[in-house]
Amino acid sequence: MGRMCAFCPADAVEHGGEHIWDNWINKALPATRYRARRRYSLNSTIIEFDANSLNEKLPAVCPQCNSGWMSALSLKVKDRFGRSILEGEPFSLGARDAVILAAFTFLKAVVTNYIIDYEPFFTRAARERFRGDLTIPPVTKMWFAAFRGRSRLSAKNDNGIIDPGWQNSPFDGLEFCSYSYAIGQLVVQLFAPRWKHISDRGKPLLSLTPHAHWEQAATLFWPYNGDHLSWPPSKYFGDDTIQSFIERFTRNVNL
Ligand SMILES: [Zn+2]
Repeated sequence: MGRMCAFCPADAVEHGGEHIWDNWINKALPATRYRARRRYSLNSTIIEFDANSLNEKLPAVCPQCNSGWMSALSLKVKDRFGRSILEGEPFSLGARDAVILAAFTFLKAVVTNYIIDYEPFFTRAARERFRGDLTIPPVTKMWFAAFRGRSRLSAKNDNGIIDPGWQNSPFDGLEFCSYSYAIGQLVVQLFAPRWKHISDRGKPLLSLTPHAHWEQAATLFWPYNGDHLSWPPSKYFGDDTIQSFIERFTRNVNL
């Protein structure tokens, strides 16, 4: 039996599907080598891709979604952020572009998370609503950052479910989706909470604020605060620092 589309009631494709790395990026680069691995750490399951050949697809969506609204969103991202991804061209993020970047980040998080073989982090209702009007679930935070590594193009797709296990605190019973996506020089990161037990899911959600020392390198862009936000931030991540950013929510010392 097949899987349902992550965003609508139709069946997902069994092979192929949504490009983790959009096709316009694939076409801009020579394919060389590809590696994917699952990584397990103490409190989280992480699927991480380090890729040089970027043709990997996740069978999480139906052909109608893939070629319809998702393709339209991908083209908007190419138009608005393509030169920043590939060449590092600075941009100033206004309200409309913040919606595009947030939708792109959430889409990648959902598709990546959806292939983990337990309950998808984001509810079907939230995912189907997103398909309709690109609404991001409440209490979801997103940051952008910049990356310069040794290779001309680097790509990382990292999804972790974090259970902080903080007993006797207001966060007791919460778990978090920590999702990082790096493509070329652009890095986006999403962080969203949910209550572990379904019986708690009517309770208000809480989020976390990363330590202030991250602010020079990572700018909160969602929820959008009405300012024009400049990319790149004043500090870049490099090959030796990007992983600590990806894992910043799994290391309590960094909060
Ligand atoms: Zn669909």
